[in-house]
Amino acid sequence: MTFNELGIIEPILRSLKEEGYTHPTPIQEQSIPILLRGKDLLGCAQTGTGKTAAFAIPILQKLYLDKGPAKGPRKIRALVITPTRELAIQIADSFTVYGKYTGIRNTVIFGGVKQGSQTDALRNGVDVLVATPGRLLDLMSQGYISLSDIQYSVLDEADQMLDMGFIHDIKKIIAKLPAKRQSLFFSATMPPAIVELSTKILGDPEKVSVTPEKPTADKVEQAVYFVDKSSKPKLLVHLLQKENAYSTLVFSRTKHGADRIVKELAKSGIEAAAIHGNKSQNARQRALGDFKNGSMGVLVATDIAARGIDVDKLELVINYDLPNVPETYVHRIGRTGRAKESGVALSFCDAEERAYLRDIQKLIGQMVPVVTEHPWVDDSPELPPAKKTQPQRPPRNRRPSPPQRPKGGGFGGNNYSGKPKRSGGSPRRSA
Ligand code: AMP
Repeated sequence: MTFNELGIIEPILRSLKEEGYTHPTPIQEQSIPILLRGKDLLGCAQTGTGKTAAFAIPILQKLYLDKGPAKGPRKIRALVITPTRELAIQIADSFTVYGKYTGIRNTVIFGGVKQGSQTDALRNGVDVLVATPGRLLDLMSQGYISLSDIQYSVLDEADQMLDMGFIHDIKKIIAKLPAKRQSLFFSATMPPAIVELSTKILGDPEKVSVTPEKPTADKVEQAVYFVDKSSKPKLLVHLLQKENAYSTLVFSRTKHGADRIVKELAKSGIEAAAIHGNKSQNARQRALGDFKNGSMGVLVATDIAARGIDVDKLELVINYDLPNVPETYVHRIGRTGRAKESGVALSFCDAEERAYLRDIQKLIGQMVPVVTEHPWVDDSPELPPAKKTQPQRPPRNRRPSPPQRPKGGGFGGNNYSGKPKRSGGSPRRSA
């Protein structure tokens, strides 16, 4: 299947070719025909599957073919609502890239920054608006935005939206949309609350469900380091120097933790920046921009700030803290190994985090190899399991597989010398 065979028009085909997209991903292949036919869509898909293009391409095509009002300023005809600023910016960038030769104009609005440049862009007229819920409602209430001409609405990352407490905002926004419209609804998971919300938004939707091309855990080389909490900074510096990865995303569970890591790295002469909710939008965008264009090699992020971040050729993910929700681990390591790239994910596990590691291994259905040779190996016995903050779900995509060893004695082609061994319930790591 090619984009041509999906009936994509020439101006969009040209931009896809320039982007190097030769074939549609499964979600694109399934969704684009449904959306071009004008049907509502319920999509169960994670970031990394190509879902942005799956909705952006048909929306651009339909807007292009239906030029809109001949006279007067442009009216907002398509609305995309997404939970975080970073995702909003990324989606708007995608509309800009795929719509380069269509003349379709978009803008993005999100909170945490002054509204002046956003209202200026709106005043000039746009066809597509990408927004986070709070700022959208705010500018609606100030009279800068009318949703009365919306023909296409997209609710992206619905489960994340609910987790972040946006449900009331979403309902208020939906209530303002014209009844006659095409609605798209995407969520990585479909718990009952999401299904219920989708029935309020969608008419008689067609359903599409995809998992990433290869389960993330298969595509990413993984290893875990048992290390005492106090030695994590030294291990991080050691690995960053040894792996020499030019693009490394370090995950911290907390905002303060992320700032501390940046300071520790600075002491060793490693330049890094943190992105999290306490940083100004400008600081976050600057850090992300420097990271994406390669002028800064290390970005330290919390889970919320990093969700959906799409960095081409992200080589290495380091979990400085293991997450207590196992699905978060899969999200994190999925930052590397996106699209066709493969990546490496290294995790630090202190004695309190061993229980988290067990849950992660259960979820991904495989053992994460343990690196036994590094200067700060923690041999302390496992502590009693930490209190769980979330009930455990049964493992998904469970495939019994043998413990895996990183190939070629190295990660990402680097001169890695650790010896991974299978990990398990026991903290013992001798043969
Ligand atoms: P998304 O799931 O929308 O965040 O997309 C994940 C990544 O896949 C992004 O870097 C896209 O640029 C890339 N991508 C999307 N569609 C295609 C395609 N058909 N061929 C190659 N890369 C793609």
